[in-house]
Amino acid sequence: MLPTEILIYINTFICKRQFNIQQNIIESLDIKYNCSSITQPCNIVNYKGIQVCDKHDNIHLFNCFKVLNRITNKNISSIHFDTKECCFIAKSYISDFGNFSHFCCNGKGIMLSN
Ligand SMILES: [Zn+2]
Ligand SMILES: [Zn+2]
Repeated sequence: MLPTEILIYINTFICKRQFNIQQNIIESLDIKYNCSSITQPCNIVNYKGIQVCDKHDNIHLFNCFKVLNRITNKNISSIHFDTKECCFIAKSYISDFGNFSHFCCNGKGIMLSN
């Protein structure tokens, strides 16, 4: 068995999305380690079949998909995000909900025209 530090280092490169695994090394060996930012497992969001990881992929796209997944009303007039970056990325996916009109709220929101 490799030293814990090495396993943790290797673990940071393993993405659940890419390898389609349920547990990473740290989880499966039940290693206790205090630096949670390193050992925390990947969180995967799935939007219309596109999978994005919060650790190994674009975090803004991850947050964008999280917001879009929460929308249940198809007749909304605006969608708001936590950051401008999320909002900018979301413009590409907004046609599912309506036609893009313009950005609002300092670039963190999108107004739709239906
Ligand atoms: Zn990952
Ligand atoms: Zn707004």
